[in-house]
Amino acid sequence: MSLQRSSRILVIDDENRLRQVCRRVLEPEGLELVEAADGISGLEAIEEKRPDLVLVDLMMPRMDGMEVLAKAREKHPDLAFVVITGFATLEKAVQAMKQGADDFLAKPFKPQELRMVVQRVLRRVRTLQDMSFEKSRSRLLISSMSNGVLVADMDGTVALMNPALRELLGDKDMDHRGKPLEQAMPCPKVVEVLTRILAEGPQGEKGSVTCQIALDGPGQPQYLQVTCLPFLGGMDKMVGAMAIFENVTAWRRLDDLKNEYVSTVAHDIASPLGSVISQLDTLERGLAGELNEKQAHLIRRAKLRVQGIVDLSRDLLDLAKMDNSAAEKPEPLALGTVLAEAVEVQTPAAQAKGQALSLELPDGLPKVKAAPLALGQVFGNLISNAVRYTPEGGEIKVRAGGGADGLWVEVADNGLGIDPEEFERIFERFYRVKNADTRTIVGTGLGLPIVKKVVESLGGRIEIESAPGQGSTFTVRLPAA
Ligand code: ADP
Repeated sequence: MSLQRSSRILVIDDENRLRQVCRRVLEPEGLELVEAADGISGLEAIEEKRPDLVLVDLMMPRMDGMEVLAKAREKHPDLAFVVITGFATLEKAVQAMKQGADDFLAKPFKPQELRMVVQRVLRRVRTLQDMSFEKSRSRLLISSMSNGVLVADMDGTVALMNPALRELLGDKDMDHRGKPLEQAMPCPKVVEVLTRILAEGPQGEKGSVTCQIALDGPGQPQYLQVTCLPFLGGMDKMVGAMAIFENVTAWRRLDDLKNEYVSTVAHDIASPLGSVISQLDTLERGLAGELNEKQAHLIRRAKLRVQGIVDLSRDLLDLAKMDNSAAEKPEPLALGTVLAEAVEVQTPAAQAKGQALSLELPDGLPKVKAAPLALGQVFGNLISNAVRYTPEGGEIKVRAGGGADGLWVEVADNGLGIDPEEFERIFERFYRVKNADTRTIVGTGLGLPIVKKVVESLGGRIEIESAPGQGSTFTVRLPAA
């Protein structure tokens, strides 16, 4: 920051000659000089003229320099002082420095010495002024931010809570500084994450953790996206933890609207096309008259195409359902039942391709906490993929196991296999592996993204083992309920 005006120096000395010396030396430096002939008028000049630096003689009648320094500092703790002293009072100068003077000059001094001391102290003053300006600017910035900000000290007490956060929490006028986090913050999830970051300390992960929370208020619930991260001070030393709260309620509502729209459109497409398929089916089976080879081929192709659109609608519906997380509540589920149902649904497709589809379940599997439809989709998609990407006569094995520390479900086939280079991409929405083998297989590229999203939302993960021509094994790992 540059000062708006040239720095103002107040010289307090009962000797007119010394005041004139100061004026002669400092004015050519572009500094503004103000004079006072004794301590009392010096204190008045401080109030009136607001100098940046005071040069004060220690030995003066009525009020000496030390007293001026002490009195002025009571009101202006940051005001810069240089004491001027004779040889005999060097000891006093040391004492004045101990009391907080910024520097001293011993009489008689050379013009160059005066210039040097004044410039040195002014440089320090400017740095201090810059810092306090910076501090007040940051404070203003944080207070006027529309996002909520919470800073906690290393001991887990609140150091800062900006007005936006207080407003979000509905207690605008409360000052929570100094209170323990769990008292000041009504969101246990945020308290838990911040406490963990603080407990991990400087050795912990430096990255941020983002979570979504819902705040119940008098009206509609508010959805907040909260980013928690370590708060780093100078030299990147951790001095606390902070959380930034963004109100995403409007986005959530838009998202819900989008999901509703997608669901409606997908549903409106799937229903009439379902009846188109059954009519094509009637034609294909010759129930509306014998078909020649070419006609039967065309009808089969049309049916496949229409089935592709029906599948896409079904997957879009599934995605919309999942995005609308409030739609289904998780509950403790018996994995065996979910798997048996998924296998049963896919059995006709496997039989149509002459494949052996088997389920192997140990007794006493612990329950898993999930929404039934979502978990059904996970295994339904994996088994349907295994059936579709395994040639006729192939084998598909579904197995499960695990204990109280977690469960695993394996869907293994001896089909086409996947190149490891594709492992990441097949979990992207709409991505499909394109090669001569998969060209004729109808799909949407939405199955695996759905699987991944559901599994991760349950705190689990999915692993693949596969190679082209070697079959594939997808393993889902889930925490027990
Ligand atoms: P879709 O099967 O509808 O194309 P998915 O998201 O379920 O979409 O799968 C993405 C891609 O991953 C598929 O296009 C396919 O190439 C590959 N894939 C998935 N499962 C298997 C499997 N069991 N064997 C071989 N390839 C598979």
